[in-house]
Amino acid sequence: MSHNGLLYIETVGCQMNVLDSELVVAALRQQGYSLTPNVAQADTVLFNTCSVREHAEQKIYSQLGRLKYARRKRPQQVIGVIGCMAQKDQDLIFQRAPHVDLIVGTGQLGEIPRLVDAARATRKRQTALSLDRREGSRSEVAASFESYDPLRDPEMRPSPWQAYVRIMIGCDKFCTYCVVPMTRGPEQSRPPRDIIHECTRLAEQGVREVTLLGQTVNSYKFTQDGRLWRLSDLIAAIHEIPAIQRIKFVTNFPKDMTDDLLEAVRDLPKLSRYLHVPMQSGCDEVLKRMKRGYTAADYRDMMDRVRATIPDCAISSDFIVGFCGETEESFQKSVDAVREYRFKNSFIFKYSPRSGTKAFELLADDIPEDVKRRRNHELLAAQTAISEEDNADFIGRKVEVLVEGPSKRAARGLSDDALPGWHGAAGPPLPTANGSSHDHDRDDFVPLSVIHSNDNVGGSTGWHALSEERTKGVANVAEAPPSLSTGSSSVLQLTGRSRCDRIVVFDGNLRLVGTLADIEIDDCTPTTLIGRIVTREIQHGSSALLPILA
Ligand code: SAM
Ligand code: SF4
Repeated sequence: MSHNGLLYIETVGCQMNVLDSELVVAALRQQGYSLTPNVAQADTVLFNTCSVREHAEQKIYSQLGRLKYARRKRPQQVIGVIGCMAQKDQDLIFQRAPHVDLIVGTGQLGEIPRLVDAARATRKRQTALSLDRREGSRSEVAASFESYDPLRDPEMRPSPWQAYVRIMIGCDKFCTYCVVPMTRGPEQSRPPRDIIHECTRLAEQGVREVTLLGQTVNSYKFTQDGRLWRLSDLIAAIHEIPAIQRIKFVTNFPKDMTDDLLEAVRDLPKLSRYLHVPMQSGCDEVLKRMKRGYTAADYRDMMDRVRATIPDCAISSDFIVGFCGETEESFQKSVDAVREYRFKNSFIFKYSPRSGTKAFELLADDIPEDVKRRRNHELLAAQTAISEEDNADFIGRKVEVLVEGPSKRAARGLSDDALPGWHGAAGPPLPTANGSSHDHDRDDFVPLSVIHSNDNVGGSTGWHALSEERTKGVANVAEAPPSLSTGSSSVLQLTGRSRCDRIVVFDGNLRLVGTLADIEIDDCTPTTLIGRIVTREIQHGSSALLPILA
């Protein structure tokens, strides 16, 4: 059956999903597809989904519901649900949305081009899923989850300067609230040689910053040619790639924060001095019910080691409020922890019971929604006050920023060809998503056009958002007071990140994008430092200094 070649993709969730979408789109583009931001025009519609909280799934079902009637007018249309929800809910999706044609789990993404064709040609449902964790031995289940890391189409990255690189898939921690071990399968590290090769290729394509991804990225280990590689060994090797200027890694598990890794962050100049290390709760009883495997005292020991080794390192965290049995006293311990550790930012979630998890089976979801909401606001207020105070300390100081692109505000006024290769808000159609980032303002939908100019979930680097309960847009990045020069053809408001991962906005020329610049900080908000460029050294060989904004 013929089709118009237009692909609409919507991405929900963490950086891992953003990367998966980038790669799926690249594979389909190689088959001749092109992206459209308009679902009504697309003959191929994909939803790359998240199951971490119920809210994320509901959004997908309501999007699917909207397509049901439109579909009748488009018999050639193929609708696919891919990623975490596909792996978790499987046939339930066909039951709830019978017009869905395709279900592909996180471990089978390489099958998508073939299955889209098969669904259209046969009009029969297509499914590609990995084994359930109870359906085989660990190695059988692991073999059914394939890491999907084909070589990239550089055109598909939202920013030419930044790239996510997956170094692990899956998770074996089995925190009682979390679906990830089910949706992403057993923990498996990728071979160092593949990762280094991928980073080298990305550097050749112009990438200056790589963010290494793993659910517990600091648990990375791989034995290659008889040598055990830890995360610190891997980043030391990536550090050798000359064109790479900055390296980040997310998300860290507190118990796996080894001294060799902290020393690497201290000693290797290209590493961001930033660690996302979710604490989840400040209360031992809650941590035990979550089966996190550490106590509040263990977390403190880890923080003491971080501070002793890298005093200027920024730390961010995730917290769940309203987890089963969380008393006011338990909750206050999370507030105390935020005040004690002065996190750069925290991603705060209301507990969402998830089928398939131990907490869902064994623990009552006994905290009322209004209490969860109130605790969410309270923890957020504590975090916001700290973020603002700590950002204010930067006023009058100079920070080195890797320039990422126009700020969101400036990007709205740019034409598509203003910055070739940069697929920002003004760029060509991207895999679309709605809402705001996890810090998104921590909503579930992460606009690709935003994510690379912001952070993550997790801190991380893709999600910025501070809280689920936060008003959309408030925590999003790089929204600073209007620049006097925004709209000018040569100078506009740019955004970037400091070495300790703080978002910085300043006026400058687009030519600065992808380079390191020194910025003097004049002002701040809880999420953003606002400054100006003093001088800038031309890179690529010349030592001449350019005037500030020229
Ligand atoms: N692997 C990371 C770690 O261990 O910190 C986190 C991955 S998870 C996708 C991101 C965050 O979602 C978690 O840190 C946790 O705060 C939150 N989360 C996970 N399951 C949740 C649930 N059932 N309800 C609310 N928040 C949840
Ligand atoms: Fe989920 Fe992270 Fe726990 Fe793994 S370590 S189960 S991904 S919260």
